Amino acid sequence: MAIAPETEIVCIDCGGRAFLLTHPRPEGEPWEPGDIVAYRCADCLDRWDLVLPNDDGAPDSATTS
Ligand SMILES: [Zn+2]
Repeated sequence: MAIAPETEIVCIDCGGRAFLLTHPRPEGEPWEPGDIVAYRCADCLDRWDLVLPNDDGAPDSATTS
């Protein structure tokens, strides 16, 4: 499964819209787990760096019970 960062996320601080700063890779060069992508919030101008997960889209907050 290809790993691709969201182009827009919800700002963790203010709930505004944060847009992807990191340029997407050319076609044929997939993102890799561990790649860091940066977002900039349009409202509070905070920057967020996110690390692409290792799993195939599985949320890291998932738990087994
Ligand atoms: Zn914000």
